Amino acid sequence: DSISGSIKSAVNKIRHKDDAASLKKATTELRKSLLKSDVHHKTTKELVTAVELETKKNGIGQDSFLKALQNELTNILTTEGNQGFVFSSTPPTTILMTGLQGSGKTTTTGKLANYLKLRKKKVLVAACDLQRLAAVEQLKQIAAQIEVDIYFDDEAKDPVEIALAAKEKAKKDLYDVLLIDTAGRLAIDEELMQQLHDVKEAINPNEIFYVADSLTGHDATKTASTFKEKIGIDGVILSKYDGDTKGGVAISLSHQVGVPLRFIGIGEKMPDLEVFIPDRIVSRLMGAGDIEGLAEKTAAVIDEKKAKEVSKKIKKGEFNFNDFLEQLSMMSKLGSMKSIIGMIPGLSQMAGPIKDMDFENSDEIKRIKALIGSMTPKERETPSLLNPSRKRRIASGSGLSEMQVNKILKQFKNASKMAKKLSSKGGMKGLQNMMK
Ligand code: GDP
Ligand code: MG
Repeated sequence: DSISGSIKSAVNKIRHKDDAASLKKATTELRKSLLKSDVHHKTTKELVTAVELETKKNGIGQDSFLKALQNELTNILTTEGNQGFVFSSTPPTTILMTGLQGSGKTTTTGKLANYLKLRKKKVLVAACDLQRLAAVEQLKQIAAQIEVDIYFDDEAKDPVEIALAAKEKAKKDLYDVLLIDTAGRLAIDEELMQQLHDVKEAINPNEIFYVADSLTGHDATKTASTFKEKIGIDGVILSKYDGDTKGGVAISLSHQVGVPLRFIGIGEKMPDLEVFIPDRIVSRLMGAGDIEGLAEKTAAVIDEKKAKEVSKKIKKGEFNFNDFLEQLSMMSKLGSMKSIIGMIPGLSQMAGPIKDMDFENSDEIKRIKALIGSMTPKERETPSLLNPSRKRRIASGSGLSEMQVNKILKQFKNASKMAKKLSSKGGMKGLQNMMK
């Protein structure tokens, strides 16, 4: 992203060892680009001054500049408080979600529930936004989509009443986590603050999260500070980071507000939420990827037992269309391609076109899904059954031409052959021989 680019161009200003003039050029470049990216001016000043001092102390050079920048960025991003999601020793861990209207509270409540569900937690979400008619309905739809339980009460007039009842249910039915979605306003007002205050007093949450819209730039930092002052917040979740071309708010927000950034929202879909861990983010900003983050993400989504079953099937050449659909749905749980690619070292700069690819909604995948949708269960299990008359039936059922059907089936056959070869002993050698 833009900050990674600025770092690179700043570093490149340093030409020779012990060249003080070029260090000055590098820090000037760094300062300018951080400010342009919406990093708060106080944070920028502190960061640049510290980097300059540390580089001088260790001997001016590109390596020492980068090392200093890495250290100081990590310092700036590390704010006292919890990281990621923290479970209470006495469940249910109760979280109050707050923020202005449209900031992404309801969506983020769903994303957090999904994040926890993938980690095998029993989650209840509570619909306490009675301000807007559609708000409860929106949370209901999200809960249904991610298959998480929801507490709502269409008769209730008071968010406190609903929050209390939800907490009762969460205790009684042994939920691990209760997430309470609340109403927002277009701007901060006393009535909203009073309402949040009342809910807080009534249920005594373990933590209060503030959802900040990163597209509001410096205002995100200001409103977060006001919420901290008025009701007290324990963490900030920065939403819509995917649409933020500047990206600097993420660097200075926690430093300025004095509350740690806990998660970042990177898209509209449920998997598009990332835990914010300073040294991992710094690693990404420096273009070094984030292998730990990637491993964690895939571990939560990929069922190891199933993965073993599938690889056994591949070895036997029995990989069928049901397995394929299952693999596709696993892929979609990982979230956007963009979020994955930034975690792979060296790939973030290279893979421009793949980054923007919406894998699930690509024409290719849509065609394959249509084709599989027109197969009988037996045909999905045993692709070898597909004779010409069955293929004709599938073509007319799926709205594809016979040629398209043949092409996809041939690709599938080749792919499973290839996978079988690769998975057998000396697979790589086999492949190399095939390519000769
Ligand atoms: P609320 O009023 O605070 O509950 O906000 P909503 O959860 O209803 O979200 C408002 C809009 O922002 C919706 O259209 C969401 O899809 C969108 N949104 C929320 N989080 C993100 C995000 O991380 N990225 C993107 N691109 N859109 C988001
Ligand atoms: Mg809402």
